[in-house]
Amino acid sequence: MRNTKYVFVTGGVASSLGKGIVAASLAKLLAARGLRVTIQKFDPYINIDPGTLNPYEHGECYVTEDGAETDLDLGHYERFLGIHTSKANNVTTGKIYNTVITKEREGAYLGKTVQIVPHITDEIKRRMLLLGRTGRFDVVITEVGGTVGDMESQPFVEAIRQLQWELPEEDFMSIHLTMVPYLRAAKELKTKPTQHSVRMLQQSGVSPDIIVCRTEKNLPADMKRKIAQFCNVKPGHVIQSIDARSIYEVPFNLQGENLDGMVVEHFGLECAPEADLTKLRSFLDRLFHPKREVDVALVGKYVELQDAYKSIQESFIHAGASLECKVNVHSVRAEQITAETAPKLLGKMDAVLVAPGFGERGLEGKISAVKYARENNIPFFGICLGMQMAVVEFARDVLGLKEAASTELYPETPYPVIDLMEDQKTTTVKGGTMRLGAYDCLLKKGSLAYRLYGTDKISERHRHRYEFNDAYRADMEKAGLIVTGENPDTGLVEIVEIPSHPFFIAVQFHPELKSTPEVPQPIFKGFIEAAIERHSAQ
Ligand code: GLN
Repeated sequence: MRNTKYVFVTGGVASSLGKGIVAASLAKLLAARGLRVTIQKFDPYINIDPGTLNPYEHGECYVTEDGAETDLDLGHYERFLGIHTSKANNVTTGKIYNTVITKEREGAYLGKTVQIVPHITDEIKRRMLLLGRTGRFDVVITEVGGTVGDMESQPFVEAIRQLQWELPEEDFMSIHLTMVPYLRAAKELKTKPTQHSVRMLQQSGVSPDIIVCRTEKNLPADMKRKIAQFCNVKPGHVIQSIDARSIYEVPFNLQGENLDGMVVEHFGLECAPEADLTKLRSFLDRLFHPKREVDVALVGKYVELQDAYKSIQESFIHAGASLECKVNVHSVRAEQITAETAPKLLGKMDAVLVAPGFGERGLEGKISAVKYARENNIPFFGICLGMQMAVVEFARDVLGLKEAASTELYPETPYPVIDLMEDQKTTTVKGGTMRLGAYDCLLKKGSLAYRLYGTDKISERHRHRYEFNDAYRADMEKAGLIVTGENPDTGLVEIVEIPSHPFFIAVQFHPELKSTPEVPQPIFKGFIEAAIERHSAQ
């Protein structure tokens, strides 16, 4: 068996250059040449996982099949590659220290002084090689979060430096992403930040094999040569990643720069001579040439930050493209929605999605949004907290239980239609203690969900503590809100629908986490179809 090859991707100059997208694009190109590829992210922050981070700080928390709460870049990896990642694909400084300190308490270091080098770096290296050691992959791509030179990322860069010598030369590769800014006043592209960034990396002992320059203008050949010369890499190994119309265009741009060719050659990999990107190409063609348009409201709490609902935004892009429809997503701040403002804020929308979330703020607004969509026959889709608020709204307005609530919002409510699961009532620790990861769900034959999925058994991912309270199920169903999906083992309610409404579906799970450009998520697709129908009827 051939050795697994390791690519390490670091970044410099600035954050948010799209390191995750470059890494995912390379993975996509290699996978599309027939190689078995996976991708993992090492984050320098001290939180054990991003599950406890405010979405304002760090964007969406992405959940894997096996229930890990991870960085949103893992979402990109899954969407680009169509694979499932796992706990092992996201490691933080917090996880590393946690392991080392636990081992120290167990006496595993036999009285030695525990230090960053070698103990922390050994643990980082162990994790960096973990997926490769399974033998399941030809190439493992490791993205290191943050930028080179940050205090926090130093142990990771040091671990890469050590691996540079510990791995056989032909199994190791380092890619550095920088930015070449364009100075409008001088009408010039500037290479100096790149030179500084590479120097910083080299000072830590890591030499990049390839430099990828993020840029808004094409880099002339002589500029690439200059960077190569100053930065001590092979001529030809400096390439550009130009601003793209869609993140899904980046693999094509990097293919044009021969990124995958250089990696394949460096490692001496045997694979198809060219990446087959036919499906992604046809997705992009549809995305760029829509025949229709719809306006969809995304009702949420964290509307200022795009990344807070990343997977939902992406799911709209996937579903829209598959229907040749441009989806204009309008973020509506939940707090602003009341019975009075709803017609103005939502009246022109072709569909309303109420987003997942935590905490009290904006809940009443979400309830008003549901009510408006329900009463005005606007296609409605509720996800997680959005589903819970749909249930509360129905209980209040249709069942007449005026004080119905989720106990998350109103613990003393006489009508706890959404309540804590039994095993959650005794949980006091926050991190990683929700109902997390993939669970099966059985769909009721003939329901909207059944029609959309085209099957009666599905599996979707979860991240929540509260549940539909079964005590109210019979009354709800009698009044017209029916349960169409439930967990086969526990009977927990997963999906509710109002069959008398043109399109009203709400789910306890997070369907947005499994949508990809090549396989759009069925409920999102149905939702956009319903929006198109409403749009053309008006
Ligand atoms: N806060 C709700 C719960 O914990 C919903 C969570 C979510 O929307 N992800 O059940």
